[in-house]
Amino acid sequence: MTTVAYRAAFFHCLRRPESLLDSAAVEYLDDGVLVVTKGCVAALGSASEMLPGLSTNVNVVDFSGKLIVPGFVDCHVHYPQLDIIASYGEQLLDWLEKYAFPQEQLFCDRAVAREAAEFFTDELLRNGKTSALVFATVHPQSVDAIFEAALKRNMRLIAGKVLMDRNCPADLSDTATTAYQQSKALIEKWHGRERLSYAITPRFALTSSEEQLAAAGRLATEYPDVYMHTHLAENRTEVGLIAKQFPWSRSYFEVYDRFDLVRARSVFAHCLHLDDKDLNTLSAKSAAMAFCPSSNLFLGSGLFDLRAARNAGIRVGAGSDVGGGTSLNMLHTLGDAYKVLQLQGQSLSAFEAFYLATLGGAVALDLGDKIGNFVAGKEADFVVLDDTATPMTRRRLGMAGSIAEKLFALMTLGDDRSVNATYVAGQKAYPAG
Ligand SMILES: [Zn+2]
Repeated sequence: MTTVAYRAAFFHCLRRPESLLDSAAVEYLDDGVLVVTKGCVAALGSASEMLPGLSTNVNVVDFSGKLIVPGFVDCHVHYPQLDIIASYGEQLLDWLEKYAFPQEQLFCDRAVAREAAEFFTDELLRNGKTSALVFATVHPQSVDAIFEAALKRNMRLIAGKVLMDRNCPADLSDTATTAYQQSKALIEKWHGRERLSYAITPRFALTSSEEQLAAAGRLATEYPDVYMHTHLAENRTEVGLIAKQFPWSRSYFEVYDRFDLVRARSVFAHCLHLDDKDLNTLSAKSAAMAFCPSSNLFLGSGLFDLRAARNAGIRVGAGSDVGGGTSLNMLHTLGDAYKVLQLQGQSLSAFEAFYLATLGGAVALDLGDKIGNFVAGKEADFVVLDDTATPMTRRRLGMAGSIAEKLFALMTLGDDRSVNATYVAGQKAYPAG
């Protein structure tokens, strides 16, 4: 059957909500019906309006009592770092040396990469994530593995081979030439295939020579619709070393700008230590940011200033940054985002939080015309949330008087148990069977 209808409560964003009073930016249906045809949204409306008009041969899947929201979008995550999640005691640079690099060395083995990619994509779906922007490792086979796993699940996923040729172990190092050649071959192989896109992925400026950054910039110019994905200004020690390594540059951010890596479809993770000039250039060049609160807290990196990014007009999505982050669950990430902003006197509303996790992430990844909400014609990626999954959510959400209160309690108390089902392009992807 090519048309299926889903009955539940629905919440989605039509644009970025300015506040909890900005009800025109969101739509909430207490008893709604979503009609999906050939993997795309055909219509969303109230059950009383929609049900009488449905053809009798359309199957209605009944999720009454549950809440359906658009599929979550993870704007920054490392699939090879799954096995070093929850590793003790270090900040960024020592954490990379002690945990991340030894783990990534294992991904020269195609079988290791395949097993991790299968587990990772299943975990994304189990946590309600239908799209992600993903770091692989320096090994091209690690990119093949993650794209093969995403292709099998029909996920909208963006990934790329890590580029690094200094300040890293020899067997994780490529060169300017191999970075260019291997990335180009992977772009030709994967970019635009089904729902997959490629991202040119220098790890960060500290691990690339100027020749390699220039090669990455050449690729970014040759392939303007390919993404560029890297880290920026995560940790203060890192920022200090960048100043030594690139003494000619006014700021960390300007290193990337010098090498033509700042443009539409460039996504910078973290962005904790930037000044107004950096923010204005980032905005003017239509680049986007990934806000990774869980990782920033765990690695003690700093506090993301969402208000400053908004004031500069920069598109922002939410990222788990696993393995620096401590959970692949988006509700967990949103709960941490709230706390990071509270420390700066900014209160993240539930509407804006769910915007970051859905339409905001889609817009940051330049996919706002394809995913992120239930506007007719978009790809039908969605999550069925269960607010009775634990005794505490059942109790607290049962007392919530409004959808804003309910969403806020869910992002504060919810976890993977809150995800009842995940659908990818109209097909049930979790739970299996
Ligand atoms: Zn990262």
